Amino acid sequence: MAVPVSRYPTFSHGVHPPESKDDTRGLPIRQFPFAPSLVIPLAQHIGKPSVPVVREGQEVARGQLLAEADGFVSVPQHSPASGVVRRIGLVPSIAGKMVTGIYIEPFPGSSQEVAEGERCDLDTATPDEIIAAIQSAGVVGLGGAAFPTHVKLRAPEGKHIDTLILNGIECEPYLTTDHRVMLEQTADVHVGIRYLLKATGAERAIIGIEANKLDAAEALEAAIPEDLPVTVGVVQVKYPQGAEKMLITALLGSEVPSGGLPADVGAVVVNVATAAEIGRLLPHGRGIQERVVTLTGPAVRRKGNYRIPIGTPLRFALEHVEASEDVSRVFLGGPMMGQALSSLDIPITKGTSGFVAFTERETGRQPPEYPCIRCAYCVDACPIHLNPSQLGLLAKIGDYERMADELHLMDCFECGSCSYVCPSHIPLVQRFRLAKSVVRERRAAE
Ligand code: SF4
Ligand code: SF4
Repeated sequence: MAVPVSRYPTFSHGVHPPESKDDTRGLPIRQFPFAPSLVIPLAQHIGKPSVPVVREGQEVARGQLLAEADGFVSVPQHSPASGVVRRIGLVPSIAGKMVTGIYIEPFPGSSQEVAEGERCDLDTATPDEIIAAIQSAGVVGLGGAAFPTHVKLRAPEGKHIDTLILNGIECEPYLTTDHRVMLEQTADVHVGIRYLLKATGAERAIIGIEANKLDAAEALEAAIPEDLPVTVGVVQVKYPQGAEKMLITALLGSEVPSGGLPADVGAVVVNVATAAEIGRLLPHGRGIQERVVTLTGPAVRRKGNYRIPIGTPLRFALEHVEASEDVSRVFLGGPMMGQALSSLDIPITKGTSGFVAFTERETGRQPPEYPCIRCAYCVDACPIHLNPSQLGLLAKIGDYERMADELHLMDCFECGSCSYVCPSHIPLVQRFRLAKSVVRERRAAE
């Protein structure tokens, strides 16, 4: 008998923005063509940028190492195409800054076969060897965080990980990347889980999926190999359940303490598309050279889920999907936690899960901001039980230290739930973002 949706577990608070996923959730993943020039930033991840090992003018094969990791919290970059290194120079980044990157010009007539490297044999590799292989493949969190995956697999001193959680929540409106990967790459997901279980020493794995993706839950459940200790945990549809701490609460009923890590409750969380990529790459010793991206929004004509070479310029991608000429706003990663872009010249990187493009008709004029009416809607929405109303009042007068010292500003993970429900249209999350960066800078200066 089907379980009523409200009976599935979840976390407390949170919001229900329109899902807006119908346009792409049923569209199979399609291969994207190569742009005439691909741009690979050396810093596509949290941590130290990688260091080039190629020179300008050099010919490279698809999948060949372009830049090596610089220390443990860093990952290498691999060539997304067979071609020639045209330039090593500055590249526009999502943050607005220019960063160093490698420009590759793909060979037009090449078969674009992917180079293979040293295979990681699941049966004989030790946990340390698997962790090293995941770093060598350049794997970062594909859900958007772009944190090097191998780093989070090592439990901090004195902690034991018993549960591996695969994050298949994808609660951000519009995005359907993980949904399609779960449906189309079930075998890769389970191979990835095998590597991850061995690397972490976890005794079991749970794949967390929201109740709006029951087809994916069924497909993954049906494909679980008999010897694999994996279960599928369906949870209610609610934003921001894809945040690690919310997902752990929904699935395990445990709360990660303020400032703590999932390992504090014996868990590690890995995005499901990241697991699929590990399952796809490690048996062949390959590195990441493409990823699945949802290209959608009212301004896009050929909406879809595409496997796109890393380094593809966003401008080329939008042209290929026939975005209308009056695109006025593009969000990287969705409208709730994503970032509005100031330039279309940035490339698609490993952390890019989707782009949502709007025209002037949808974005229009922003409603004016009114004073706080103390309705407490924001307090009921905040998933980590902060008081956004009070934080907002302090942000307005610039009392950032009190926000941090007394109201736990630094715990805010900028989910935007408070802004979403505010009837006075107060840009709470934007103010908290600014306040956090000021506090961080001041603390670093001290
Ligand atoms: S943006 Fe921060 S304060 Fe607002 S709901 Fe999310 S976590 Fe809470
Ligand atoms: S939702 Fe907006 S108006 Fe209501 S208490 Fe929060 S900040 Fe004030």
